Amino acid sequence: MLTTRPRGTNDILPGEVEKWQYVEQLAREVCREYGYGELRTPIFEHTELFSRGVGETTDIVEKEMYTFTDRGERSITLRPEGTAAAVRAYLDNKLQALPQPVKLYYMGPMFRYDRPQAGRYRQFHQFGVEVFGSHSPSIDAEVIAMAMDIYRRIGLRDLELHINSVGCPKCRPGLRQRLQEHFKPHLAKLCPNCQGRFERNPLRILDCKNESCQELGRHAPTTLDVLCEECETHFNQVKGYLDTVGVPYIVNNRLVRGLDYYTHTAFEIMAQDIGAQSSIGGGGRYNGLMEACGGPATPGIGFALGLERILLTAERQGITFPVSRGPAVFVATVGSELEKQAFALLQSLRQQGIAAEKDYLARSLKAQMKYAGKLGARWVVILGEEELARGVAMVRDMQAGEQQEVGLAELVNYIRNTTNNNQCRGL
Ligand code: AMP
Repeated sequence: MLTTRPRGTNDILPGEVEKWQYVEQLAREVCREYGYGELRTPIFEHTELFSRGVGETTDIVEKEMYTFTDRGERSITLRPEGTAAAVRAYLDNKLQALPQPVKLYYMGPMFRYDRPQAGRYRQFHQFGVEVFGSHSPSIDAEVIAMAMDIYRRIGLRDLELHINSVGCPKCRPGLRQRLQEHFKPHLAKLCPNCQGRFERNPLRILDCKNESCQELGRHAPTTLDVLCEECETHFNQVKGYLDTVGVPYIVNNRLVRGLDYYTHTAFEIMAQDIGAQSSIGGGGRYNGLMEACGGPATPGIGFALGLERILLTAERQGITFPVSRGPAVFVATVGSELEKQAFALLQSLRQQGIAAEKDYLARSLKAQMKYAGKLGARWVVILGEEELARGVAMVRDMQAGEQQEVGLAELVNYIRNTTNNNQCRGL
């Protein structure tokens, strides 16, 4: 127990973490270009925020939340997604007072008590954006295009973008009625979950993963059959903007998304290469959410991308990321008397921006050289009594296998001139 991590969680180790940093950095850069500011919310919130904000009838709220009572007898939940907290933060911090729309992004761990498998974890990481305060279909298109831009810059290929309109409170009641008429004769054949959804939210039956429910839903009416004029216009405009910027999409009238507060646009991005858990991101408009959370009616739209699944897709597609190469310089010593000088040189190199390392286990010179090789050091600076007295050190080029004396005063320049900047930083 003590040495095993909880089921559905991962350790991300050096060597692997550089890929995460690369993708995170890339996402931040895209956000800067598109005008999104970073929002950091707490990892836990009041449970009610999610039951209201995500929706009582969703899988997340019904069975996947990590909920506990804290010592003050409050019900607390580890965040299962980012949108509800962004809405809470918008209201809490009175961001309505800012010029609208407000464009935010977040990244970090989310928690769902799901059945773990490849690409599905109990602690996973999302990068997401939210835009509050605009009804414009151009924002829907921007958010979708931005997600696709991120995948493209990472180098992911063969992705499918599915889009749909899930209607609005005006046209949804009509759909609800038609869905109930469709499913009523088959009620007994629906899974127990969907039997519950039949009354509460029949639209979600279309979203069920159970095979017999999917089969029964195959000929059910869809949102696109009942869209009101306003929703239809909005959807056509979103498609028009996507066409303008050359983002290909598939209209998928089965796409409903699991969350109750979605209105108008819904979208999901699938990767072919990662098996059953093929959704690498999704999002949509949620014009009803702000009010459901007790705020003034404010339109919103956003997406969340799963970082584990992006990295899994990249791996399956053979995409390589920049990897850490170890220190530029390893400072070795002949004999233990020079430890202090080695330590001083090490600090001075680091303070001048050069990634440097030394031995901490009192190794022999030979063992130090071997260790430097294992770390992947580009240079080994060997400090010896006699050389130090002359103000020089032996510098070994680990790539060429050659060495030469270099004056200590010139050492930093020597390393800089013969190594590129990234190598100096150990990148
Ligand atoms: P959702 O918040 O359910 O719309 O999910 C958005 C994205 O997060 C999905 O497309 C996945 O890429 C990712 N995701 C959702 N749940 C998990 C999970 N349990 N493990 C890993 N990634 C997930």
